[in-house]
Amino acid sequence: MTDRTRSTGQPLLSIRNLRKSYGDNEVLRGVSLDLHRGETVAILGASGSGKSTMLRCVNYLERPDGGSITLGGELLGCELSSRGLRMLGEGKISRQRQKTGMVFQSFNLFPHWTVLRNVIDAPIHVRGLDKGKARELGLRLLSRVGLEDRADSYPKHLSGGQQQRVSIARALAMEPELLLFDEPTSALDPANVGEVTSVMKQLADEGSTMMVVTHEVGFARAAASRVVVVANGSIVEDGHTEQVLQAPRSPITESFLENTLHR
Ligand code: ADP
Ligand code: MG
Repeated sequence: MTDRTRSTGQPLLSIRNLRKSYGDNEVLRGVSLDLHRGETVAILGASGSGKSTMLRCVNYLERPDGGSITLGGELLGCELSSRGLRMLGEGKISRQRQKTGMVFQSFNLFPHWTVLRNVIDAPIHVRGLDKGKARELGLRLLSRVGLEDRADSYPKHLSGGQQQRVSIARALAMEPELLLFDEPTSALDPANVGEVTSVMKQLADEGSTMMVVTHEVGFARAAASRVVVVANGSIVEDGHTEQVLQAPRSPITESFLENTLHR
C-alpha cells in the first residue's frame, strides 16, 4: 500500500482520555489518540514521559485508571451489561490481547527453544493451529523477516538484530490487527538497527497498522505517516511526519528533536 495516510471511516484504535497513575505518580494524564487501519505512527518523547505505559494499556498489560480504549469496534477490558459497565475477567482480556502484537526492546525469546518454535508455539497452543500448518506459517514469516535459514538455530547463536526480527515474526504469527513496538532497536548495536527498521518499514508499506515508540527519527521519517510526541503523560504534538519534524508546533517537540538529533 502506498497511501499510508488514510483517515476515512472508523478508526481501528480509539484511545479516549486515558489515565493511569502509579501511587501519586500520574503517568498518563488524559491521552486521546485515533489510529486508522494501515497507519503507522511513530511515538517520540523523553524517557519517563509515559510512552511504554500507553502501549501497555493498549495491550492491557496495565489496566487503565480511567478513559477508554476501543480496538476494532470492541471496548477493551470491560463490557456493557444490563447493570452497566462491567470489568472483564482475565480469560476475555487475554482473548482481546491477541488482537495486538507487541515487540519489546528486550526480545524475550525462549533461549531453550529453536527460532521456529519461538515463532509457532503460541499459534499452536493459543490459536490451536495444527503443527504442520503452524510450521508452514512459521517458515513463511521467518522468510518475511529474512531468516528462513535460521529456523533450527537457537537464539543465542543469533545477533541482536536477528533475534529482534524473530520476535517480530513471533508477533505476526498471531495475526494481530495492531502491532505495538516499544523501542525495538534501543538494545541493539548500531550496526543491527537498519536490518530491524527495514523489516518494520516493509510491514508499514504492506499496510500493517503500527504504533512504534522509537528514538529513530530516520525510521519515523521513512515509515511513519504520523508522529506523536508525548511529554509528562500528555500528547503535546500529533501531526504529519514532515510537519512535526520540520515545523513542530510545541517547544517541547523542538527541544526533544534538538536533543535526539544531536546526541
Ligand atoms: P517511557 O516509556 O516514556 O520512558 P514509562 O511509561 O515507562 O515511560 O514510565 C512513565 C513513568 O511511570 C515513570 O515515572 C516510571 O517510573 C513510572 N512507571 C512505569 N511503570 C511503572 C510501574 N510498573 N510501577 C511504578 N511506576 C511505574
Ligand atoms: Mg519506555
